[in-house]
Amino acid sequence: MAKEVLYSSTRGAKGQIKASEAILKGLATDGGLYVPDHIPQLEKSLRELAQMGYQDVAFEVMKLLLTDYTEEELKYCISHAYDSKFDTEEIAPMAEADGAYYLELYHGATIAFKDMALSILPYLMTTAARKNNVKNEIVILTATSGDTGKAALAGFADVPGTRIIVFYPKHGVSPIQEQQMVTQKGDNTCVIGIEGNFDDAQTGVKKIFTDPELAKELDAKGFQFSSANSINIGRLVPQIAYYVFAYTRLLKEGRIADNEDINVVVPTGNFGNILAAYYAKSMGVPIAKLICASNSNKVLFDFFQTGEYDRNRDFVLTSSPSMDILISSNLERLIYHIAGNNAEKDAEYMAQLAGAGKYEITEEMRSKLTDFFGGYATEEETFATIKNVFEKTGYLMDTHTAVASSVYSKYVEKTGDKTVTVIASTASPFKFTRSVMNALGKGDDSKDDFALADELSVVSGVEIPEAVTSIRTAEIRHKTVVDKSEMQKAVLDFLA
Ligand SMILES: *Cc1c(COP(=O)(O)O)cnc(C)c1O
Repeated sequence: MAKEVLYSSTRGAKGQIKASEAILKGLATDGGLYVPDHIPQLEKSLRELAQMGYQDVAFEVMKLLLTDYTEEELKYCISHAYDSKFDTEEIAPMAEADGAYYLELYHGATIAFKDMALSILPYLMTTAARKNNVKNEIVILTATSGDTGKAALAGFADVPGTRIIVFYPKHGVSPIQEQQMVTQKGDNTCVIGIEGNFDDAQTGVKKIFTDPELAKELDAKGFQFSSANSINIGRLVPQIAYYVFAYTRLLKEGRIADNEDINVVVPTGNFGNILAAYYAKSMGVPIAKLICASNSNKVLFDFFQTGEYDRNRDFVLTSSPSMDILISSNLERLIYHIAGNNAEKDAEYMAQLAGAGKYEITEEMRSKLTDFFGGYATEEETFATIKNVFEKTGYLMDTHTAVASSVYSKYVEKTGDKTVTVIASTASPFKFTRSVMNALGKGDDSKDDFALADELSVVSGVEIPEAVTSIRTAEIRHKTVVDKSEMQKAVLDFLA
């Protein structure tokens, strides 16, 4: 048996808890994020894993980090998550186009990569509640830049013992993203638009989470909060699996030799997806460079350039809204690790971020970031990438994936690095239909997004995903919009 992995807060190492407890809590009471006390190594060789399907690879990865779940419990969670909700048996298929491998993470129920983690989180969470004799109803509080919200709603809708409340920036998501959320069924679901941006939503949710008075009040009423955001370690762990899986597919298909390095490019917002790749590397997957791709909200690019994280800048609304973020929560976990698992230092930086809005890491910490490469793509570059790759190869990608693809091209141009490369493809082009059609030079302002989806289907020869057709005429069930200062009240109203 491998050594048990315990979790503690990035801001105070006192009090280690088990994986299931960390998943239940979501965020530590000191505002920190739960991190593993050590990163276990894969037990099976990548060659052995290459013989397995997605579910089995996921099991091999997740059992190493979620050590207090029994084999039976984990297998139950995995088999119920990665099933026919996905429109392909492979779960995470890979497509080769223009010299790179696109790992398509958008074949789940809501056609974005968030499904990879959020189709399993409700199972991990309810199993954790059972294991820990939790009697309270669990209230999932989630801030979304568009994709997490729907994926979390789809995962938790009508799950007994849970309720879910989602806050999204009223003017910061695509029409299809909004329609997906406001038509959500389920008696335990609540969707609220806020007058504010994603950072406001995320900050508001963290504040509600860490309010001890509120927690007491709710406990008396039989409720406790948890999170479906990537601050929850139960989101991150399942995401590690697809990087392991991607490597094993390349191996199986003879695209790489044993132990050959690959690079990974990730279109980044909250830094969850790329952190999962970093953990995969730490567990033994031969990943050389972790290429972090940003849109015009390039706070991470600047951070990797200079070592200073500075959120004091204008928030830009782009055509890749799920990456419109200035406070990348999961970077905190990386900061903690490169500080030598030093919670005191991390807490200091995060206090600076909350105060002055910026912090600068030491030279020693920067020296531990050499595996990362930061890049960004402008709107023009993003659109040009969609058009060029489609015209050259027939491969169609969404705006987020195009940010990554564009950054990858610039990286190759700059470095000449020929390492086999996997680009995380995070959303279906049909989720961002208008932008994709504009990029192809086929936009039409007189048409709505659904009419454009029809045309995109004709142009691309790709069928419109069920996730889009099913919401087209669905009843709008959620209409509440509140100011960002009224989030707590909205939560209490829903629970009353
Ligand atoms: C959430 C999301 C991202 C950003 O992922 P992070 O884990 O927040 O960095 C990128 N693309 C799409 C389509 C997303 O939904």
